[in-house]
Amino acid sequence: MSEYQALYRKYRPRTFDEVAGQEHITQTLKNQISSGRQSHAYLFVGTRGTGKTSCAKILARAVNCENPHDGNPCNECEPCRSIENGSATDIMEIDAASNNGVDNVRALRDEAIFSPAVTRKRVYIIDEVHMLSNSAFNALLKILEEPPEHLVFILATTELHKVPATIVSRCQRFAFRRLSREVIAAQLVSVAASENIALDGDAAATLARLGDGSMRDALSLLDQCSDGGAIDGERVREVVGLPSRDAAIALASAIAERDAARVFTLFDASYRGGAGAATLFEELAVLARDALILSLIPSGGELLSGSADTNSLKALAETFGRARLLAFADLLAKARGAFTRGTGDRTTAELALIAALSDAEPTATQPVTPPAASPVPQSERSAAKRVREEEEERRSEVNAGQRSAQQSEVRDDDAPWAHLLGNDSEPQEPTSVIDRLSQYDFTKIEE
Ligand SMILES: [Zn+2]
Repeated sequence: MSEYQALYRKYRPRTFDEVAGQEHITQTLKNQISSGRQSHAYLFVGTRGTGKTSCAKILARAVNCENPHDGNPCNECEPCRSIENGSATDIMEIDAASNNGVDNVRALRDEAIFSPAVTRKRVYIIDEVHMLSNSAFNALLKILEEPPEHLVFILATTELHKVPATIVSRCQRFAFRRLSREVIAAQLVSVAASENIALDGDAAATLARLGDGSMRDALSLLDQCSDGGAIDGERVREVVGLPSRDAAIALASAIAERDAARVFTLFDASYRGGAGAATLFEELAVLARDALILSLIPSGGELLSGSADTNSLKALAETFGRARLLAFADLLAKARGAFTRGTGDRTTAELALIAALSDAEPTATQPVTPPAASPVPQSERSAAKRVREEEEERRSEVNAGQRSAQQSEVRDDDAPWAHLLGNDSEPQEPTSVIDRLSQYDFTKIEE
């Protein structure tokens, strides 16, 4: 029996044509291979799981392939095979996260001057290159300034801003896109078919959403959900600890209808069922976001996350009303910022639910963007709690010594729902997308 191989490894693309969702990069690389006009240094930039390492491995074969097809490596010639099975000593993969010292790069520089033993080009793939130390970067720069003919460097990073400009300017830079849910879902369906896994559309869409732009994360989640049986959306939610879709929608509708008894019963049931307060609020936030988008752009189906069917979202948007939905999204964002993934989260969540139940209809003149200071509304605070919080605020102010006096001055009317209590707080610099969104006066769009 062969050793089990993770799905994302097993289905790693082997040619540029198999790389999903990065055609703007793979086409250019194919053209370079076909025309024989390759660079000696590449910099692949992008979030994790978007295909940087896969493309680097394919490129390492393509520049050495004896018989490339339309810019793709043939994967059959001797160089292709030896590179793929790892026996080619001229192809080095270095993880800068664990080899970040100047000695590693000096050793690399010393051996880099020799012509490759077997392949045409000696290729260095340096993953997470931003992790190199400054002296290592300087050593690398020396090679990049005058690279021998036979050298190709492929640097990959998730954090471009940490790579010195002197290095960046000597490389051809390629920006890898976050993969769309459609691209990820299609790949999941294709992998599932090859593996004889019964994966339904809802499950594929949910996994694609959870992958958040990363094919590797989505495939790892598929791995995690596979136990030989059929995989549907509920199975995925169960495995990753999300509340069931119906539970999240039911909770959101109960809040919209201000049905306190149902809100607390449903929250309790989800919480007991194992969904953490943070996860539950994330789901509510996705629902609120989708309902808002649908209320603004009725035809914007492809902008939705797939968190719920459009009828449920429409019903939510209608019951909430757009202004209240915005305030709700804002409240969720603030509460999520206050979660610590600890035992206190339940109380924080419940207080936020009370605030969501007791909010007034915001009017157009009231800003919906008070900054987060405390997840506890003034009216809910007991005296003892207030003393404890003020103590904590003082301590955190001492810790954050560089903060400006203005920032560290925490006023009571800075509470997330101060506007709901009728206080006038100054609108501040927005910090999140939801903050920025909620500063926008959507009532102007209404006909
Ligand atoms: Zn080949």
